[in-house]
Amino acid sequence: MNSLDTLLLAAAAGRPWALRGVRALDPVSGSDETRDLFCDGARLCDRVVPGAAEFDAGGCLAMPAAIDLHVHFREPGGEGAETVASGLAAAARGGVGTVVAMPNTSPPLDSPAALARQRSLAAAAPERRVRYLLSACCTVGRAGGAVAPLEELAAAGAVAFTDDGAIVAPDSAMEETMRRAAALELPVMDHAVDPKLAAGGVVRPCAAAAAAALPVFPDEAELAAVRRDIALARATGARLHLQHLSAAGSVPLVAAARASGLRVTAEATPHHLLFCADDIPGDDADWKMNPPLPDAAGRAALRRAVADGVISCFATDHAPHPAAAKARGFLAAPFGVIGLECALPATWLAMVEQEGMPPCEWARRWTTGPAQALGLPPPSLAPGAPARVALLRRAPWTPGADALASRSSNCPFLHRRYPVSVAALL
Ligand SMILES: [Zn+2]
Repeated sequence: MNSLDTLLLAAAAGRPWALRGVRALDPVSGSDETRDLFCDGARLCDRVVPGAAEFDAGGCLAMPAAIDLHVHFREPGGEGAETVASGLAAAARGGVGTVVAMPNTSPPLDSPAALARQRSLAAAAPERRVRYLLSACCTVGRAGGAVAPLEELAAAGAVAFTDDGAIVAPDSAMEETMRRAAALELPVMDHAVDPKLAAGGVVRPCAAAAAAALPVFPDEAELAAVRRDIALARATGARLHLQHLSAAGSVPLVAAARASGLRVTAEATPHHLLFCADDIPGDDADWKMNPPLPDAAGRAALRRAVADGVISCFATDHAPHPAAAKARGFLAAPFGVIGLECALPATWLAMVEQEGMPPCEWARRWTTGPAQALGLPPPSLAPGAPARVALLRRAPWTPGADALASRSSNCPFLHRRYPVSVAALL
């Protein structure tokens, strides 16, 4: 047997490897069994290849590497908080093998040239294991006016359209975006928050909100946007993906849309599933995100929706910010928390440990669910599948700042105990 480091070196060099006695979660077949997992250097295979690096993976779990539909790498414009290279390193640290980067950089990604520039940044990054997929703006400059050149952006490799960070507010712009995206067979991913109804709300009702007299975020700000988006998806036939749902009332809207045959998918983030507004310790902007944390009943509704598949995707909304910006306090600090490094352990704790979700079903929310939302082939552990595997350790883990590869540390996930950790991305 070899060390895990030796196995990682073999995998990085494209040489064969074998995980002996690993608990393998295959989201496609639904199998959850202890067995050996083999790779010929590029693809999984059904027997050990002579000369393979072999690791005794007893006590470990293997699954296809996670797909994160929603990350913000801040390059260009915010390199102090994150670069493409540091974001890819954070993804790899977290067992995430595919990311979809949001286009709300500065300047925003609304042209084929901008997408090409991002791709060259990723190509120059030391981290080679993570697939870097790009979404592109719905509207020119993310300004909510003229619709961006979606056909050119699709030809340049955009996998989805979104103005994330903000909703596409005018109904006419969203309708045109959806109509043209439908013709391209690409999803529209919406930050479903109506800013007028949100009215500057930064938190849901809780003790911390009351103590600091913080403006409260009403559920209706999300519900109105979700209803509008679903109505436009019905009118246009578009594939609609609703980002970071946070309100209990969104769940029956999504369930009804899916039941009626609309191609609507939705995501929930690790922070909205693990925490609720009552957990906010005070005026600490590492707990400030958009939309804000739900109350306990809202979190319970989101968890049920994830368990029964109405919400078919986990996604981090990894949103790095410099410590100085987050130090401005809850009202003045920017929205957003990072999440890539702790995403798998945090969702395991919330859904498997606390809700009893079967591990294989949990793995689907990180793999086949997001793949379906993007129209990608479903990731599996079957022989012939590409070797992109996350290896988790089943032992308590309490991450400190050294667990992070991100340039930022704004999040509520550190210094807590999780039942699993990510050992490697293979
Ligand atoms: Zn958003």
